[in-house]
Amino acid sequence: MPPNPRVLRGLRRFARAAGVFAVVVPLVVLLGWAIGNETLKSLVPGQATMKINTAIGLALCGLALLACQGRQPRFPLSGLLSLAVLLLGLAIGFEFATGVSLGIDTLFHPDGQALVRGRIPGRMSELTATSLVLLGVCGLAVCSERGRTLAQAAALLVVLIGLYAMSTFGYQVGSRTQVTPFFPVAIHTAMVLLVLSLGWLAARPEEGLMRVLSADSLGGALARRALLPSLLIPSLLSFLAQRLLSHELLSPQATLTLLAVASGSVVAWLVWSVSTLMDRIEGERRMVRSLREDANTDPLTRLGNRRAFQAAIDGLARQRREEDRAFSLLMIDVDRFKAYNDSHGHPAGDEVLRLVGRALQAALRPGDVAARYGGEEFTVLLPGIDGERALRVAERIRQDLEQTAWPYEPVTVSIGAAQAARDEAPDHLVARADAALYQAKRDGRNRVVLDA
Ligand code: GH3
Ligand code: MG
Ligand code: MG
Repeated sequence: MPPNPRVLRGLRRFARAAGVFAVVVPLVVLLGWAIGNETLKSLVPGQATMKINTAIGLALCGLALLACQGRQPRFPLSGLLSLAVLLLGLAIGFEFATGVSLGIDTLFHPDGQALVRGRIPGRMSELTATSLVLLGVCGLAVCSERGRTLAQAAALLVVLIGLYAMSTFGYQVGSRTQVTPFFPVAIHTAMVLLVLSLGWLAARPEEGLMRVLSADSLGGALARRALLPSLLIPSLLSFLAQRLLSHELLSPQATLTLLAVASGSVVAWLVWSVSTLMDRIEGERRMVRSLREDANTDPLTRLGNRRAFQAAIDGLARQRREEDRAFSLLMIDVDRFKAYNDSHGHPAGDEVLRLVGRALQAALRPGDVAARYGGEEFTVLLPGIDGERALRVAERIRQDLEQTAWPYEPVTVSIGAAQAARDEAPDHLVARADAALYQAKRDGRNRVVLDA
């Protein structure tokens, strides 16, 4: 499915905004460290701070995201910045794994290496370090043509880490026990991780896993509506439930019940909104289909009209030329129809045309195309049928109509048949079938003539 240009533009704009956000927030935090402002460091005083090296890593990642976008992406710069982010994450990982200090935690951090509650104060969380590794990989992989799926998979993992960190934050506040096995992640670190990873996903919206999200299709519309809410809402609900519990606003039982009802409502709302969307899109498609059908259908007989005939004969002429597939054309004209109209009135004449249409429809095989050419003239296209057999089909139609129980008086038709020659233009074939029809009229009507 081709991408929807409006969605592509929106996603790219989001990716740029995410890059700016991921640069500005860490810079503000660094300012907080410089002037000793606790609110800027941790957003919620008393909670985990965004470490200085985290802030540097995130800002580099934001710059990498910005550098790989725009009309002239600077992939080398973006790659270098991502490499720096990757190395920082790996170095912290190495410190965690080996217990060896590389001096990164103390490099900028005024509190030094002394443990506070069993932790080195300047060290970022394992979750943050893992995210930096993944974001570094993502930034490097985006620069290469083949690494796009790897980049998106890495970004998705960071989305999950960001969500996890944001959800557990709710449990951390006011809790005296450790709520996760990891070092706590500052709330603004979690937010920047989430925004950055979504930004990397949005930066290449027409590729890999993101293709369905930007597609101009029903699937794309559903994904755009349902994906983000289903990702975010459960975390948000658990966060709210924790807030209620920690403030002792409701009993645990009531909170859990509320959580269950809220989750059910959210799922129901998602299903409802997706169904509404499907319903609307299906309605629109049905309308377009019916308009298209109307444009090709004769309202009186419900056969194809002149335009449908032209499209069909053009297609068959092409097949005749390219695949040497035979086809024949019948031109059918109601005999002395003016007199019938004059004697019994126009509505009675219309009824005859309707009955002729129905008889033609009944006489044909699937694949044959009957159309009202105009007035009381009809055409029948017979794919795969040569002149001889076309003559037999025409004769059967003529007899069927002759034996029809007509309301006022017998009605007959004259038919001209012609088999298409290999390189014959459709107009020329029509002219030959027409000539055969007039021959049939001259020969006394109610007969079939083949243009040999
Ligand atoms: P011929 O046997 O030579 O074909 O004679 P004809 O009277 O059928 O031929 P002519 O071309 O003189 O007349 C065609 C008539 O078809 C004239 C017109 O009033 C009638 N006609 C064309 N379209 C319609 C229609 O939609 N409804 C009705 N009731 N009559 C139509
Ligand atoms: Mg006529
Ligand atoms: Mg006629």
